[in-house]
Amino acid sequence: MKERWQYCPFCGRELSKMMDEGRERIFCVPEKRFIYDNPVPASTAVVFDDKGRILLVLRNREPGSGRWALPGGFIEIGESPAAAAARELEEETGVRGCDPVLVDVIHEESEFYGTSLVITGYRFEKSSGAPVAGDDADDAAFFELDALPPLAFRSHELLIRKSLRQGS
Ligand SMILES: [Zn+2]
Repeated sequence: MKERWQYCPFCGRELSKMMDEGRERIFCVPEKRFIYDNPVPASTAVVFDDKGRILLVLRNREPGSGRWALPGGFIEIGESPAAAAARELEEETGVRGCDPVLVDVIHEESEFYGTSLVITGYRFEKSSGAPVAGDDADDAAFFELDALPPLAFRSHELLIRKSLRQGS
């Protein structure tokens, strides 16, 4: 995994490495503090229409540009995972979701971001509005489950499978 931190985000000085509890961690020598490089949380929305089709977006940004995925994105500071899923859903598809139910929490290594992601999936029991692609999507549409296009991320496949097992 490539190194994400070269300079201390607190004091701006060059970082070193130090062993801590059996792990090599990033360390700021002048400040005598460890810099914890933790996984990055993202949240996704699972929405079915009344025909049991699932809502996907055609991504126009990397990672996964040109491929279909669940609506989703990174959780903002101060935002709950469920609120992030609802926000991304509306931004990317124009669909409003209510009554979020947690499907699963999945860990995925991201080569693109050079770090680990933790991806929460929420199924919205109620939704309104017809899908219209937002700025960071080229298309948004409902798909029959037996005719899904190849998805951009393994984590999204797992979340869809898990939500089907949970029923609706
Ligand atoms: Zn520092």
